[in-house]
Amino acid sequence: MNKPNIIWTNVLIFSITGLVALIGVPWYGVVYGYDGYHLLATVLCIGYCGMSITAGYHRLWSHHAYETNIVIRIIYAIGGAFALQNSALHWSSDHRVHHRYVDNNEKDPYSAKKGFWYSHIGWMLREYQRERYDDYTNVPDLKRDPVVMWQHKNYIWLSAATNFGIPLAIGFWHGDIWGMLLTVGVLRLVISHHVTFFINSLAHLWGHQPYSDKNSAKDNALIAYFTFGEGYHNYHHSFQFDYRNGIRWWQFDPTKWLIWSLDKLGLAGNLRRCGNERIEKAKAQMLLQKANDGLSKLPNADEIRDKLHTEYEHLIEHINQAYEAKKAWLEMKKNDLIEAYDKSEAMKQYKELKSNLQEQRERWNSLVAQYA
Ligand SMILES: [Zn+2]
Ligand SMILES: [Zn+2]
Repeated sequence: MNKPNIIWTNVLIFSITGLVALIGVPWYGVVYGYDGYHLLATVLCIGYCGMSITAGYHRLWSHHAYETNIVIRIIYAIGGAFALQNSALHWSSDHRVHHRYVDNNEKDPYSAKKGFWYSHIGWMLREYQRERYDDYTNVPDLKRDPVVMWQHKNYIWLSAATNFGIPLAIGFWHGDIWGMLLTVGVLRLVISHHVTFFINSLAHLWGHQPYSDKNSAKDNALIAYFTFGEGYHNYHHSFQFDYRNGIRWWQFDPTKWLIWSLDKLGLAGNLRRCGNERIEKAKAQMLLQKANDGLSKLPNADEIRDKLHTEYEHLIEHINQAYEAKKAWLEMKKNDLIEAYDKSEAMKQYKELKSNLQEQRERWNSLVAQYA
């Protein structure tokens, strides 16, 4: 079978910028030197490009994890063109196909089942899904966003203006045009490209799966550090509408912190989160499955298997009761007509069920830890 045609524009952009970053940038540094401003401007522009993709293209436009005003959307649209990753309309359409058909080698545009190289960059080098390129039927909502359509129609000149204009302007101001073109222009683009590409490649190949193993997506804290929080990809594929990828407050997810801050400043709203009850059940289900797999390697494990299932069922029961009681208590708290006595009764009951759940969690965790 003939291979699809090569997309020369992409091949040339990736190889020329890659070579310049590898050879030209260090050469210029040795001969003329860089200073702190080169570093600062490069880091800030990597942040602008990266967050425009993760907070804008990904969590806002592809998944509607929150809403934001037109000014922020224009800032994302310009940053997305600067990141040179196609228009938000095209990117989001590809990304929705990726979620829908994840790991399907025919349909997932960057299926990690086809290996690291293909899912990282190979998928962009040939016309693998030519028939789908102009098909935007899966993004009708985005066609109604004037910012998305403006960026899509003006993508070529916007990306040229940002990729040349921003480094030139900073270089002119700093008095080193070539140095800034190399660092803010080329090095920034290459780093920004590859860290985003890692989400499609590494985050589907390396890490663990606490929420689901129905697809290849992995959670990997290390990858989260250089992908603006997108390394918690197993969580993301399980609960894609959640504005967070790292759900614990301490998990490195600057995209989540940005969205949260925009909300607090009144610049964003309708932040969507998955309820803790669903998350906890998904984790318990995964642990049960892993423990069962571990047990299948042991002889005469029937008794342990029965115990495991009983404890799992107890856990689910406790989760249901505790979250139900919490809901009832919160409902009462909201309602002023309820007697104070009833409210404190409901709270007492909730606290008791919560501590029962905690005890059961500990039993469950120490049991599964032996086999999972
Ligand atoms: Zn993915
Ligand atoms: Zn996604």
